Amino acid sequence: MIEDKNQQRTPLSTLGEFALIDHLTKNFEISHTSTVKGIGDDAAILDFGDKSIVVTTDLLVENVHFDLSYMPLKHLGYKAVVVNLSDVYAMNAEATQITVSIAVSNRFPLEAVEELYAGIETAAKIYGIDVVGGDTTSSTTGLLISVTAIGQVQKDEAVRRDTAKVGDLLVVTGDLGAAYMGLQVLEREKEVYKVNPNSQPDLEAYTYIIERQLKPEARKDIVKLLKDLDVKPTSMIDISDGLSSEILHLCKGSKVGCDLYEDKIPLDPTVITVCEEFNIDSTTVALNGGEDYELLFTVSQADFPKIKANPHLSIIGHLVEESAGVHLVTRANTKIELKAQGWKTFD
Ligand code: ADP
Ligand code: MG
Repeated sequence: MIEDKNQQRTPLSTLGEFALIDHLTKNFEISHTSTVKGIGDDAAILDFGDKSIVVTTDLLVENVHFDLSYMPLKHLGYKAVVVNLSDVYAMNAEATQITVSIAVSNRFPLEAVEELYAGIETAAKIYGIDVVGGDTTSSTTGLLISVTAIGQVQKDEAVRRDTAKVGDLLVVTGDLGAAYMGLQVLEREKEVYKVNPNSQPDLEAYTYIIERQLKPEARKDIVKLLKDLDVKPTSMIDISDGLSSEILHLCKGSKVGCDLYEDKIPLDPTVITVCEEFNIDSTTVALNGGEDYELLFTVSQADFPKIKANPHLSIIGHLVEESAGVHLVTRANTKIELKAQGWKTFD
């Protein structure tokens, strides 16, 4: 046991994820000129000659990040890779390699771990990346997966989250909220199954949103699209924790404010229908749902003609002075301040 000299005991839940990271890492110093950006973005940026390397890592823990009662192991393997690649693409980089580390308990037979790796292999093939290492160890409490992704980008082409400017347009790819509503449907079916294991759920109407939860994709295509359109975003971040949280990160990092327009937020029709069924406000879901793995970026107004009317891109707002704050402009034309959501994991 480590002797406890520190009598004070602060519950981690009083800080939340981001304050905790800040607190733990605030004294770390950068000593290499190759470290262009350390902690604080979707990925670190390391400069080597005319290339920048980006590095990002994520840890997925059973019953915190995934529930194996409805998450097939193959999908879990696929998702573990994809969520990391999303952070690489959010830097405007090309993903090239990953390492995969697992801690696994005796509860899992070989065949189960094979399934997990089938998903990892499929993602590696589809996204064109090499699996170059990892670590394997035992666990007493279930399954943990950690993936580290490495990518490359031409020097000075990496796009950070702290470089947006007042007046820039705020753009999001795809549509939002589907992964969260997919999770709600899966959770509901799990409860039904507990009561009646013989019930045969008809989930056909929910295919899109369940797929978005169980088999998300990272927007590799957008990095290419932006190149083809000759648009370099002024800042970029991926949407893992919900639109609201990511806008706040981007604005805080860039020292700007934002007006986000409720009527511009892209929603799939299924999300709207299922939100009605669950009696949840679809804007709240888009703002706070998370796990969309879409890209959120800003462009200068001069690039407007290049991105307008593109079916993959929605212009959802614009950046204002920091002192003006970060607001949602509702359909009724009232302004509501966007606030950081509490972090659930340490509750
Ligand atoms: P994302 O949601 O894009 O994956 P995170 O919110 O997980 O990013 O992390 C924010 C930043 O903090 C990243 O730069 C990440 O590398 C860094 N970070 C997170 N946890 C730790 C830790 N325990 N020690 C050092 N850096 C960390
Ligand atoms: Mg990210």
